[in-house]
Amino acid sequence: MSLDSPARGCRDTPVLKERGQREVFCGLTGIIWLHRKMQDAFFLVVGSRTCAHLLQSAAGVMIFAEPRFGTAILEEKDLAGLADANTELDREVARLLTRRPDIKQLFLVGSCPSEVIKLDLARAAERLTTLHAPHVPVYNYSGSGIETTFTQGEDACLAAMVPTLAATKARDLLVVGALPDVVEDQCLSLLAQLGIGPVRMLPARRATDLPAVGPETVFALVQPFLGDTHAALIRRGARHLPAAFPFGEEGTTLWLWAVAQEFGISRAHFDAVTAAPRARAAKAVAAHAETLNGKSVFFFPDSQLEIPLARFLARECGMTPLEVGTPFLHAAITGPDLDLLPEGPVISEGQDVDRQLDRQHAARPDLTVCGLGLANPLEAKGHTTKWAIELVFTPVHFYEQAGDLAALFSRPLRRKALLTAPIF
Ligand code: SF4
Repeated sequence: MSLDSPARGCRDTPVLKERGQREVFCGLTGIIWLHRKMQDAFFLVVGSRTCAHLLQSAAGVMIFAEPRFGTAILEEKDLAGLADANTELDREVARLLTRRPDIKQLFLVGSCPSEVIKLDLARAAERLTTLHAPHVPVYNYSGSGIETTFTQGEDACLAAMVPTLAATKARDLLVVGALPDVVEDQCLSLLAQLGIGPVRMLPARRATDLPAVGPETVFALVQPFLGDTHAALIRRGARHLPAAFPFGEEGTTLWLWAVAQEFGISRAHFDAVTAAPRARAAKAVAAHAETLNGKSVFFFPDSQLEIPLARFLARECGMTPLEVGTPFLHAAITGPDLDLLPEGPVISEGQDVDRQLDRQHAARPDLTVCGLGLANPLEAKGHTTKWAIELVFTPVHFYEQAGDLAALFSRPLRRKALLTAPIF
């Protein structure tokens, strides 16, 4: 583990705050990974045909399976029609739950259209919970593009669950944030080898595994975009363990070490457990660092993973971040990563896309990390880009994925080098 911090990190760097037009997906996108993670949950989007198209095209792979998300399309209604809309919603939910006894948790997900905004989905969720208790709790959150960027959908979903979690006085570790099952298993295996437990996960794979929470609960985040969930857990009395995020060899080691110290694990035992996977991770990253070393990178604000990823690219891959944009900056959550990110890049929060494009053009980075909407026009202008959304859909956490994470950034640079290489 590299315990050396840079002479000056970015925690005290003045933040460039921007408010203007932004180019990001809405929070409905989170349903794509949440429905895979929560195996007995159903996500019912109350929205428009646009919402249905977004979900169908983004999650088209579900076409052969019994789906676990759907869209209740609300046609234009005046206020007098809202009573009917509530009745229709109750009827659709009753039909769904009768037909699908495998559903144990239901999420009503709000969206942008004004008819949906007028409908009180929080009250609908309360009413439906009463109707379908105790078999199926009904939660509500917003995935609206007016209120949420794409990773905020997961935050809103988890934050909606926290107030309903059972109370406990047990000293549990709660790991918070959706991870692919294979990565979650690796995380749990490392914690078990260290002798840390009991460990609970939020979100849980099934409703019966939902964690309890209380004043002895300590929680560690594995996703940096969980600001509302972080606040909701603190309101329940739980205590946050601040740590660098488990991206790359160093990030994973620091995250595990923060947890290990809290649970009184000795340094010798920690080193014995982590030595082999750390060596594997460092070797896997080094293979890609050859391509990345000395290159510059510019982050548009998109996934809220930007600060930990910039730290990983700067410290483990030798890249120079020029600007690190993030939709929201929670110092309580990303502070440890900001401490490690060497001073130098512009740190920006929010977006004014035209101004940021001007800065990106002036900086001429070797690699630009941005959303899909910006990637194609930037590629057309000769920039090399990485789609931020891939960072959320690809398993990238913990030691065994460190090489894959570095590969996500080295691949576009290698492709560009091949395309521009002279042909003899
Ligand atoms: Fe639906 Fe709004 Fe998302 Fe468009 S931006 S898909 S209308 S929630």
